[in-house]
Amino acid sequence: PDSHADDDADAGGLRTPIVAVLGHVDHGKTSLLDKIRGSAVTAGESGAITQHIGSTAVPLDVISSMAGDLVDPTDFDLPGLLFIDTPGHHSFSTLRSRGGALADIAILVVDVNDGFQPQTMEAIDILKRTQTPFIVAANKIDTVPGWNPNEGEPVRVSKEKQSDRVQGDLDEKLYEIIGQLSDNGFSADMYWRVQDFQNNIGVVPVSAETGEGVPDLLTVMMGLSQRYLKEEMSIDVGGPGVGTVLEVTDARGFGTTVDAVVYDGTISEDDEIVVGGLDGPIVTEVRALLKPQPLAEIRTEKQFERVESVAAADGVKIAAPDLDDAMAGAPVRVVRDRDVDEVILEVEEELAGFEVSTAEEG
Ligand code: GDP
Repeated sequence: PDSHADDDADAGGLRTPIVAVLGHVDHGKTSLLDKIRGSAVTAGESGAITQHIGSTAVPLDVISSMAGDLVDPTDFDLPGLLFIDTPGHHSFSTLRSRGGALADIAILVVDVNDGFQPQTMEAIDILKRTQTPFIVAANKIDTVPGWNPNEGEPVRVSKEKQSDRVQGDLDEKLYEIIGQLSDNGFSADMYWRVQDFQNNIGVVPVSAETGEGVPDLLTVMMGLSQRYLKEEMSIDVGGPGVGTVLEVTDARGFGTTVDAVVYDGTISEDDEIVVGGLDGPIVTEVRALLKPQPLAEIRTEKQFERVESVAAADGVKIAAPDLDDAMAGAPVRVVRDRDVDEVILEVEEELAGFEVSTAEEG
């Protein structure tokens, strides 16, 4: 299987799809992201997964070890999933790539007890407008009265083990959500009944608390990406890196740095880059590319490790001079063999679009 993966990389390269998590406040976005990170660490043992700054990469082998029978890794040639760690639709709207959404795909989290709420509707509107494919995570299934949790199990397995009454109660709540999706113009069903995820929204019952349904969620995201996003994931991995700033932060010993998601090409140490700033494009040079140590090792002390280069799609902390005015949501572009003025112009154009779209957002 390894040589198969190498062949694909040589043929141009498929990048990791970028996933955003949206939903109403308190419906469990943060908990779900934490659970995915936590479960992935357990499943992959230490070092198999790295928590990046502002994003978390979950490689395919980790997904398949978590998902057990649900995933046959040979069905996939996409390398895994990259989750943007900052949940919420504000971050979804400000994080863009070439004018579109930075996220390729989204998880809309809905509390099974609460159903659709104002921010659920706002999220739906944004997903519609940006034409972002999404699935619904119907969260907190463990709160159905009488539910007996089965930690980390696929949801259909766990559901089967519940009493008829509990199963009936859950189904009722899930159908309510399916009805609300339908009221908003989406044909939806339980994910295991959905054949065509392009025209139907799959609803995945989950618990961010017990991890039930998380294997299903990852499997469905992987399947959906593989089936419908594969063409968009084809990139020139060796080309000049292109990314989006998630956050501008101070890192001890490095001054002001930007946490970015690279969604095309490769960025390397010493590359000349152009970054969107408050007063226009900033031209600077990469001093260091930093990643946190594997999650299992950073519980006591946060420490970065330096890497020589980062290929899309991946998260990285970029240390470079003159980043004080860099802006969250702004583009980062590697100059490489091109004329720097050309790249400055590209960044200026993207910044102009960025201002218009954030103004629209209110
Ligand atoms: P966010 O505002 O959407 O990020 O929601 P949080 O992740 O902060 O969750 C809000 C509250 O719901 C917290 O107290 C969580 O512990 C709780 N919560 C989230 N997911 C679940 C779940 O699946 N089951 C239960 N029982 N509680 C949950």
